[in-house]
Amino acid sequence: MRSIPSYKYKYTDLDFEHADFGIVQRGRHERIDLAWSPQDRCFIAISASCPEVYYLVDLLCDSSGFCTCPSFKEVQSKRGRPCKHIVALDYFIAARNGNGNGNGKEVA
Ligand SMILES: [Zn+2]
Repeated sequence: MRSIPSYKYKYTDLDFEHADFGIVQRGRHERIDLAWSPQDRCFIAISASCPEVYYLVDLLCDSSGFCTCPSFKEVQSKRGRPCKHIVALDYFIAARNGNGNGNGKEVA
């Protein structure tokens, strides 16, 4: 497992099966711009409504993940659930890997 000791961000075990249906739908269908940020060494999700706002979001190889958005920090992480950015990143990586059932696997 890759360690990210410098990150103070909360992360959680992902359990997409118990994720809120609405969150999964939003993660899959909303336009969420994702990009790899070399200086942060994780992905960033750019807010569609506020392009100057972005969140750090990442999936770890043990199927846990984190996001710095308020929804995740204040609500979803307390329930062990992903936010829409984590869901979007999971699908993004799965699509890029040509693997249709993303489950939090990390890219190399
Ligand atoms: Zn988020």
